[in-house]
Amino acid sequence: MTARDYRYYVDTGPILERSWASKAGVGFTGKNAMLISRGFGNWLLLAAIVTRLEIEADAPVSRQAEAVPVGTLCGRCTQCLDACPTGALTAPGVLDARRCIYYQTIENKGVIPQELRRGIGNRIYGCDICAEVCPWNRFAVKAKSGLLASRDQLAQLELRELLEFNPERFAAVFKGTPVKRLKLRGLLRNVCVLLWPILAREIACLHCGN
Ligand code: SF4
Ligand code: SF4
Repeated sequence: MTARDYRYYVDTGPILERSWASKAGVGFTGKNAMLISRGFGNWLLLAAIVTRLEIEADAPVSRQAEAVPVGTLCGRCTQCLDACPTGALTAPGVLDARRCIYYQTIENKGVIPQELRRGIGNRIYGCDICAEVCPWNRFAVKAKSGLLASRDQLAQLELRELLEFNPERFAAVFKGTPVKRLKLRGLLRNVCVLLWPILAREIACLHCGN
């Protein structure tokens, strides 16, 4: 097999890894439109390998998850729909990506719509609210891989400090993190969206002297 015979994806590329994983019995699709595992809750990274190799299919790891309609195992819970600050979950399992903070702060390379900015709050890279609130996370276990460990020093960065970043500093601080997808331009755009109401107040104060 050569490199032309396969491709692999981890949160990259336009493939349907969530529904494939659901069909394979890895988990079920929740009302938050994510794959939820009985063993890990929402905290999963799905990896997929697309190959020309002929492989005999084995049985799904869990019969229950196969073909279970979206949200079936959520019961009456609606916590994710209630918690989404921009109303991006328009129905159980239905995500309007144009309203999602994840899309707006990472994938959108243009202007972030004014009407969504209040809901974005203090987020400069993505959003996990609809995953965080899910009660299935009580089954989650901490990842063993150091690659998935949180980098606490990034949380110490001040917004105004980020505004002074140049390309070299951006590359050094975010080396090996998905934030590099944003590029410096995207990061600055997001920081400006957050800081603008504060800066506008400060400018107004300078003018009136109060
Ligand atoms: S990621 Fe955030 S904005 Fe997007 S659907 Fe979930 S809660 Fe809403
Ligand atoms: S928060 Fe509740 S409704 Fe949403 S995916 Fe989790 S269990 Fe389902």
